[in-house]
This record gives sequence, C-alpha cells and structure tokens, in this order.
Amino acid sequence: MKRLRRNPTDQSKHSDQQNDGAVARIAEIKCGSNPIKLMGVFVVCLMVTGLEDDFPTAVDVLTDKVLDGLLSSDFDKSSCLSRYQSVAYRKESAHKPSSHLISRLRSYEALHRRCGPYTQSYNKTVEKLISGQHTEISECNYVVWISFSGLGNRILTLASAFLYALLTNRVLLVDRGVDMADLFCEPFPKVSWLLPSDFPIANHFNNFDQKSPHSYGNMLKRNPVTQLSTLQFSYLHLVHDYDDQDKLFFCDQDQTSIQKVPWLIMKSDNYFIPSLFLIPSFEQELNNLFPEKETVFHFLGRYLFHPTNPVWGLISRYYQAYLAKADEKIGLQIRVFDTGTGPFQYVLDQILACSLKEKLLPEINQNEDVGSFPLNQKTKAVLMTSLNAGYFERVRDIYWEFPTVTGEVIGVYQPSHEEYQQTEKHVHNRKAWAEMYLLSLTDKLVTSSWSTFGYVAQGLGGLKPWILYKPENQTAPDPPCRRAMSMEPCFHAPPFYDCKRKTGVDTGALVPHVRHCEDMSWGLKLVDRENEMWTR
Ligand code: GDP
Repeated sequence: MKRLRRNPTDQSKHSDQQNDGAVARIAEIKCGSNPIKLMGVFVVCLMVTGLEDDFPTAVDVLTDKVLDGLLSSDFDKSSCLSRYQSVAYRKESAHKPSSHLISRLRSYEALHRRCGPYTQSYNKTVEKLISGQHTEISECNYVVWISFSGLGNRILTLASAFLYALLTNRVLLVDRGVDMADLFCEPFPKVSWLLPSDFPIANHFNNFDQKSPHSYGNMLKRNPVTQLSTLQFSYLHLVHDYDDQDKLFFCDQDQTSIQKVPWLIMKSDNYFIPSLFLIPSFEQELNNLFPEKETVFHFLGRYLFHPTNPVWGLISRYYQAYLAKADEKIGLQIRVFDTGTGPFQYVLDQILACSLKEKLLPEINQNEDVGSFPLNQKTKAVLMTSLNAGYFERVRDIYWEFPTVTGEVIGVYQPSHEEYQQTEKHVHNRKAWAEMYLLSLTDKLVTSSWSTFGYVAQGLGGLKPWILYKPENQTAPDPPCRRAMSMEPCFHAPPFYDCKRKTGVDTGALVPHVRHCEDMSWGLKLVDRENEMWTR
C-alpha cells in the first residue's frame, strides 16, 4: 500500500467518518508434523530425485486432484515448477472451487488463446487502435493492466483486473513493467498474458494519472454524454486518488457504455473486487462463480500467481531448511507505516502481546533455572517478515535465553531485512514475493493492518489471520490484535455512492457479504455471513 488516504471528495461521508479523523490523518502517511501429506511426500520425492519429468502423468493427476481442477493441465511442467510442486508444501485447501468457476476459467483460457498477443484477432484490434477506426464489434476486447505500486498491491490489482475481465468477457493483458515476467509464471496455457512491448500506447502508461485527458472520469467531465462506442480505448483510473467521476466505473449504467470500448487500460493500487459485488449486473455471475464469498482471492490467487523457477528456489530452499520439520509453523508479518527507522519498542510489545494472548506462542519461564528439557518436546517455527531485523532479533533472543512454560522449542527465522522498500530491483521483489508465499505456507498467521503484503499471504494460504491493530501515537494498542472475519483482502478506497439514487450511501451496509474491514474502518471486504457472526 502506498500513500493511502481517504479521498476527501468521496460522494458521501459514511457514518464512521466523523469518528476517525485521527485515522484519516495517519492514513496520509502510507503511500513436519504438520505432516506433509502423503501425496506431498510423493511429489517431494520426485523433486528431490529430479524425476519430475519422468513422471509427468502422475504429477498431473496429483495436481489436478489437489487443486480440484482449478488449473489447466495443459502446461509445460519444467517451465514453472511451483505450479506442480507447491502442493507438497501446502495443506489441502478447506475450500473447493465451484464447477462454474472451473468451467469459466477453461473458457477464458480458450478466449485468451484466440485473442492473446499476436493472434490474428489481436493484430486486427491493434490495427484499429492505431487507425482509430471503429468498425464491427470484435470477439476480442481487452483489459490492459498497468504495472503500478508495491508488489502486494500489484498482485491484488491484477487479481481484480482478471475477475473484471472474466465478468466482461475481456482478455487480460499485463504490462510487464520491470519485473513481472521475472516473478510470475504464465498463468494461461499456450499464449502469453504479457502485453507485447510494441503495443502502440505502452510508452504513455507512465503518464496516465488522475489528470489524464484519456481517463474515463475526465472524459465524462468534459462531455457527460460522450458516445463511448466511438472510442478505441479508455483509461480507467482506479488509483486511491481517483475522483467521483472515475468512481462511476462501479455503476451499472457506466459499465454498459464502458463495455463498448475495445481497449480498457487500467491503473489501480486497490483490491476493488468487493465493489464489483455491488454492481447488480455482475451479481448473479459472481454468486455462481463464488458461492463462498471469502474464497475469491484465495482461488484467483492460486490460479494466477505461480512463482517463477528462481523465486520457487528461494521459497523451497528456505522452507526445507527452516520450516518443514517443525510441528507447527507460525507466520508473523510485520509492516510498520510509522515514520522513523525502528525497531520500535511499542511494535515489539504489540507483537508479543498478540502472540501470547492468542496463544500462538508460549509464555517463557523467567524464574526457573532450567538447564535440560524433556524429550519429545514439540517444535514451533516462527517465520517473521519485516523490512527491519530488529523485531526478529528480539523475539529470537527471548526464546533462546529462556525456556517456554510448555516445554516447546521455538525457532525464529527471518529470510531478509531489506531495510526500506525498493522499487524496480529484481532481487528485492523476488525476495518480497518469496516471503509472501512462505507466509502463506504457515499454519497460523499474524498480519499488520493496512498491508497488502499480508493480504496476499493470507489469501493464498487460505488463512484467517490475526490482524495487529494499527498503533496510534506510538503506543501498542490494547487489544493488540483481532481475528479477521475472512481471509479476503480489504479494498482501501471504495466508493460510497448509490448509483441509482445518485446520492451517498454506506456501501459497507448494503449486503451481508460486503462489510467494512477490521483494519480500516472505511475499507470494504468480502465475508461469508456465518463467519462474520461467528467472530463477533
Ligand atoms: P504494503 O505496502 O504492505 O501494502 O505491501 P506492498 O507489497 O504493496 O509494498 C511494500 C513493499 O515493501 C514490498 O513489495 C516489498 O518491496 C517491501 N517490503 C515490505 N515488507 C517487506 C518484508 O517483510 N520483506 C520484504 N522482502 N520486503 C518487504
């Protein structure tokens, strides 16, 4: 997440707003024996012995079975080992993709094959884009996703753009930015999802912003009755600083006209899926695709985001070295948005208070002089991620210097401490992706408020995390954390607008499955009603 703030021009002030002026001000700141399944052991054996290419059919069958048909089996295995091997590192998901989702994914893949880069249809549509001619409606219409913002944000916006493409029968093409191809395997068989570098308006992507004359919002401002059917492309500005006109994207009437534009170029730093659930014309299809609402990112994430072989190397080596043998794996994702370098004592206090109170980690015994420990004690591996090494060092030292009251042995590990967020650096982003993925392989997860890095881990892992409340005034909050209502990410900058009545509305109170987030009072997230009631 980056320099997030609630947009002061929101169409309405929903009821929370008066109460959280302080939050809004702060918002300006941020821009084992968990046994590897039998099946998993088999795949690991294949990996270790390097035999995976000799047993492609067996691996295919396993993968299909475990991912319940979510992935196509139409891939070259060696080009993306994670797609086949990750099953050995994960618990089986408690959720099953709907048959409708599976069938829509297969038909999307077929469409992508017909319309993807350099197909006849693609070439034709690009020609029309260059010439500006609008002729007959083509089968191939596109959403181009612009690579923008931190890696966690990018993963969430890409999943959002893909779901939008699925709902509107468009083909998703991905601006490769600096490192998209380095981080993610191709998710669709046979034809690339990467936008060709010679795409005619690719060199304008950096200039597209809130003021861009090509944006849908600005176009409406100039001429509210513009015929979109005459346009070859429109720029959708869905970044946190978007204004009321840009937000009309989330209205049915506007979707009807946007639908006529062959090329939609989209820039966003937000997981905007919760608001798609509030668009009436998408409602039925979304219900069919996701009968369990909180599985949207879980399935889209597992479908789309497979680490490339170099990133998979980082993940699998680290997992085998530090996590695999532990009886239980705990993830602690620490993201501090306060200014200053840290580590901060109040953050450490909060991490410990949450972990102990929620019994994720055992208390230590400070009094007894315990020199030996019982045999057969359980082991816990704590995977910490943070830009800073300070929190990890303190937690590790505590469990080294003192025994636990339970006799459990606690190993604490942190893969990297990059000190500050770095953009456009390959190794840095590879590590960030590897760490999000490693967190997703834990059994229990603690995340930091507002962090898309944590959202990605929880969604991929199918984990309902404990969320560390955002500290105010450099003080550890009490209570320090709470359990999330669902594993879904939070949409940080949703519109508050009733498109029909043309007035403000609290969009977090319209339907039971779209609620305000635990970590951001004005954000929106998907929940399943039963879960929501249960965690209250
Ligand atoms: P958010 O800012 O927490 O919402 O997450 P993003 O992933 O969008 O942006 C933060 C960026 O900072 C990441 O992509 C990384 O580049 C870096 N970063 C933040 N926390 C960590 C961490 O724990 N480990 C690593 N390796 N990088 C991090």
